[in-house]
Amino acid sequence: MASQRLNGSRPTRGPRSSTRGKDQAQQPALGGGGAGTAPHASPPLLEYACCRVRQPEEYLPSLGAARVEALKRLAGPLVGRRWVHINGTLQGGGVAELLQGMLPFARGLGLDTRWYALNAGEAFFQVTKKFHHLLQGLDTPLTLEELFGAYLDAIDAAAQAQIAADLVVVHDPQPAGIIMPGALLGPVLWRCHLDTSTPHPVVWRFLLPYINQCAGAIFTLPEFIGPGLQVPVYQILPGIDPLATKNRQSTEPAAREILAPLFHDSGIDPDRPILASVSRYDRHKNQATVLEAFRRLRAERRFHPPPYLIFLGNTATDDPEGTAVLAQLQARAGDDPDVRCWVDVPNNDCVVGALLRLARGMVHVPTREGFGLVVTEALWQGTPVVGAAVGGVQQQILPGRTGYRVAPRDVEAIAAAMARLLDDPAGAAAMGRRGREHVRRHFLLPEVLRRDLILLRYYTRTSRARPPFRVNGPAYREVLETLWRSPARATRCR
Ligand code: UDP
Repeated sequence: MASQRLNGSRPTRGPRSSTRGKDQAQQPALGGGGAGTAPHASPPLLEYACCRVRQPEEYLPSLGAARVEALKRLAGPLVGRRWVHINGTLQGGGVAELLQGMLPFARGLGLDTRWYALNAGEAFFQVTKKFHHLLQGLDTPLTLEELFGAYLDAIDAAAQAQIAADLVVVHDPQPAGIIMPGALLGPVLWRCHLDTSTPHPVVWRFLLPYINQCAGAIFTLPEFIGPGLQVPVYQILPGIDPLATKNRQSTEPAAREILAPLFHDSGIDPDRPILASVSRYDRHKNQATVLEAFRRLRAERRFHPPPYLIFLGNTATDDPEGTAVLAQLQARAGDDPDVRCWVDVPNNDCVVGALLRLARGMVHVPTREGFGLVVTEALWQGTPVVGAAVGGVQQQILPGRTGYRVAPRDVEAIAAAMARLLDDPAGAAAMGRRGREHVRRHFLLPEVLRRDLILLRYYTRTSRARPPFRVNGPAYREVLETLWRSPARATRCR
């Protein structure tokens, strides 16, 4: 089920089987033996075949010459260095989105960048989905058999690959077990994209020894740093690639043209306003509350013309729960003529961009969210966001300026924010313009890469300067190293 597609060739409210709609140019090609292993019927790691190289100059229109030159200077001493990423899936979700933009850009700057994803089965991803829930505060049973069977067996297979690099970044808990002596050769950083501010102790204590093997860890916000970390910690906020298909800015007529077949197939009147909710179908994403708020909105007022609520979601191989969450949402939506639940639509990236461009507002109220790239994408398309005051979402929403912040379960407040956007199209458009500028300044991919390059320089010893976005005090190993270097101080410590 891990690779099962929820749905297919046409948008619909019911599951179908068909191909997924993804730009061919961005479709990852899956490599054979992962990181240099012998050919194998089912390799434990898949490699992303990155065919595209983005020259830094391509970013001139969105960044300006000074920022582009600064990146080139930073990357200069790193040309030819190998920078490896390992995560749970090549497709679906924010990490895959980030890496799909990062690889071509880093290659354009001369780095030898590789990306591998785990090629594990359903049992493995069922366990790691539980990790995900437990780390973000949802209780769910986890057995020793799951940990030492389904999880570690797949990890042991992946660890045979023996990846050597100047820096390896292991993303999120799915591949964390691979951080063990001998599997990864070179400094390793653990990159956490989740909100792990209050992790369940069982899973956190299971992961902690792996994380503490690393040369460092990266979190989106300092408040996400879980207890007991003994490594240097850095803060990096994610960002979107302005050159990605979904982030290209089309005109309203062009967006309408992209969406025309979907509108036609699902009987949407293109002249009515749209509220969009774009994300994987996931318990944390809280789509049921968006639906409830939409119904509250209509119950309290009649709008002329009446709005639609369109959910758009896709599947990821490392997220086996999507089918069930979608089915629940569809059951709640019933035959509501103003609601659509689209999934794995053809031409995904163009559709995401066009829908976000055309929508009056995006509604994103997850109960927990590390960052929420969809919020960035909506703002970049000039669309204001009604967003939950959680994690990275609240960093992106300036209340009343780029959208509205609400508590994730506050149906009344969500409905009121939706109403404001529907009542005031000019005000919504002005918020969208400010949102785009906010993203340009803070949340574009090159800013993420700038920090990554600083880390690469630090860990390849190209530069000794301590990264300025380091957020914790001296780590255990650093204290030890200082003591070893200074026996006099070590004597005083006895
Ligand atoms: N996305 C997509 N198609 C969909 C739904 C989502 O391409 O039908 C993309 C969305 O545009 C964003 C990513 O999936 O780039 C989701 O990232 P986010 O950080 O918002 O959430 P995550 O899935 O990582 O929790």
